[in-house]
Amino acid sequence: SATPATLSAISNGAKNGVLVKGGAAMEALATMDVLYSDKTGTMTFGDFRVVDYEASVDVIKEVVFMEQQSSHPIAQAIVSKFSDLSLDAVDSREPIEEIAGFGLKKGPYRVGKPSAFTQFNDPNQYHEKSAGDYTTILVAKENEIVGYFSMSDQVRHEAVDAVKGFQEEGVEVILLTGDNEAVAKKVAIEVNITHYKAACTPEDKINAVMASQEKEQVVGMIGDGINDAPALANANIGIAMGSGTSVAMESAEVVIVKNDLMKLLYSYKLSQRLNRIIK
Ligand code: ADP
Ligand code: MG
Repeated sequence: SATPATLSAISNGAKNGVLVKGGAAMEALATMDVLYSDKTGTMTFGDFRVVDYEASVDVIKEVVFMEQQSSHPIAQAIVSKFSDLSLDAVDSREPIEEIAGFGLKKGPYRVGKPSAFTQFNDPNQYHEKSAGDYTTILVAKENEIVGYFSMSDQVRHEAVDAVKGFQEEGVEVILLTGDNEAVAKKVAIEVNITHYKAACTPEDKINAVMASQEKEQVVGMIGDGINDAPALANANIGIAMGSGTSVAMESAEVVIVKNDLMKLLYSYKLSQRLNRIIK
């Protein structure tokens, strides 16, 4: 069972906006060698705005209808952008399937990450639009790409300071994102992270965590999405954002209640102090 010093550190962390589930996690936090982080919702606000798009009205309606079923920040951006459209004509009997870290499927339609659409016909060359600095999703009907939506998001200012703080403590911070190379690189530069991996599947995120563990490193992982949950569960210290999905919070040992990464750094330092006391 936890020592009084450990319980006091947990209580101090909680007062400062970080829930640590148990003494083992509180003590482990400061032993972290590498901290992997998701991008959307962790390094950024995950508050996307549609900045550009091209698709017929019928296609837009299908996409909005599908995205209504998703909790991904991309979905919220699309649903709110087209909230005036009537969706009465959309076939509501077709089941909608969400594939974590990819996108959605409904009948002949698929919407999701550009790297999953390379084999589709693209008469309008929509694929080219996905190479820019924006987060872009493509829409296909049958085997043809029929539209795209580009969105912007903002880096959380406190993420820059938190990354610096962890680096000063000797923790290597690495970005893992399902988003495209250009966006991953842009965010990595903004928050001063040297190592990043773009176009990650949920399995890629787990594999990165396990590869570090095989090198005897203690691995932290911060995420917020359904797609992050398996990597959070595999990390030595899974860390979820309070604004994240409930499955991410359930898979994590640590929850950053108000999404402020500086509070995580504060808890890391509490853990350091704790380990000096109890050793
Ligand atoms: P991140 O790692 O940046 O949090 P995700 O793994 O959640 O990103 O998503 C990776 C990519 O999958 C997104 O950039 C997007 O292209 C696509 N995607 C995920 N969910 C959706 C959705 N609901 N609608 C469309 N595309 C999606
Ligand atoms: Mg995410």
